[in-house]
Amino acid sequence: MANLNFLDDELAQLKEQGLFNTIRTIGTAQDAWIEVDGKKVLNMCANNYLGFANHPDLKQAAQDAIEQYGVGPAAVRSIAGTMSLHNELEQKLADFKRVEAAISFQSGFNSNVAAVPTLMGAEDVIFSDELNHASIIDACRLTKAKTVRFSHCDASSLDEKLREFATARRKMVITDGVFSMDGDIAPLPELVEVAARHDAMVMVDDAHGEGVMGEAGRGIVDHFGLHGKVDIEIGTMSKAFGVVGGYVSGKKKIVDYLRQRARPFLFSSAATPADVAACTKAVDILTASGGYVAKLWENSKYFQSKLTALGFDLGVTVTPITPVMVGDPAKAKTFSKALFDNGIFGMAISFPTVPRGKDRIRVMNSATHSTEDLNFAASVFEKVGREVGVI
Ligand SMILES: *Cc1c(COP(=O)(O)O)cnc(C)c1O
Repeated sequence: MANLNFLDDELAQLKEQGLFNTIRTIGTAQDAWIEVDGKKVLNMCANNYLGFANHPDLKQAAQDAIEQYGVGPAAVRSIAGTMSLHNELEQKLADFKRVEAAISFQSGFNSNVAAVPTLMGAEDVIFSDELNHASIIDACRLTKAKTVRFSHCDASSLDEKLREFATARRKMVITDGVFSMDGDIAPLPELVEVAARHDAMVMVDDAHGEGVMGEAGRGIVDHFGLHGKVDIEIGTMSKAFGVVGGYVSGKKKIVDYLRQRARPFLFSSAATPADVAACTKAVDILTASGGYVAKLWENSKYFQSKLTALGFDLGVTVTPITPVMVGDPAKAKTFSKALFDNGIFGMAISFPTVPRGKDRIRVMNSATHSTEDLNFAASVFEKVGREVGVI
């Protein structure tokens, strides 16, 4: 048996730095109000933007799928066949996204791991926004391609890097659509223009844009009207879609190739019938109406204007993601605990998820919140903000 004492030191160090994360236990379905560690609190940290995680129609679709298809896919799709459910989801996703084709995966994380290493190899260069999500960073690490970081949301920095590596065989620009910790969005029209000049593919990970940006939540490419100009869109069904899963959508050629070569497709079982059917229902609901998305934005604007009026610093957000800047890990933890004691579930986010010194409470708005809920939340933020000395 190996000596594992090094882990005692590592764990002790995390505790000393105030970075040890105690994970809360939720005793109810994800909703506006949930039970956390036995206490009823207003949920302000889930990615359940539209309330789909506990939507009756999604639950019914999942139950029906279990009745008809059972609980598991029992294999990878390329070996033992795919269920018609998965094909139906992919077709509906492609239609919803207004692209040629889509391929689904078990998660958004896996979708990045599927797309990047399959398309990029040793003679290639990836140009990645410096604040891209960890799953993009890991996907890049799984390639033999060189990865070059460009300055956050900066098309001229991208241009400079593309010039520097002009002789690469293939080039791919990768950016988050909506940046999950700050709520700012990629300057996609500029990035697309620069990439086109250098014959570089463009890939957008729109995990926080799906169900949030664009017409009825079609995402950031739709928001900017850039259909046909972005080669690859990565989506997750674990956020606004309320379920779990991910997909790669875009040009048919790319999707066809991923079906042949993407390792999470070839070597990991497909998502379950219940998950897939619930995801399809989410797409159906969004295709039929933009009502949930409109409510999400109305709530976000209302709550953000209240916090700003109270003097909170919300950083650079332009989306429902609402970072309430606090400044150091201890203060963020105290803030989060005081929120909880006063009936609000809002988690502190610290290094390594955000840079040191940029500790925050990240409030996630949702269409499930009532005006009464938001007024209550604002009053608690005011009280706690004064106690902790943030406002
Ligand atoms: C959340 C997130 C993911 C991971 O999605 P999962 O479906 O939870 O695996 C990937 N990329 C970005 C940008 C994300 O915000």
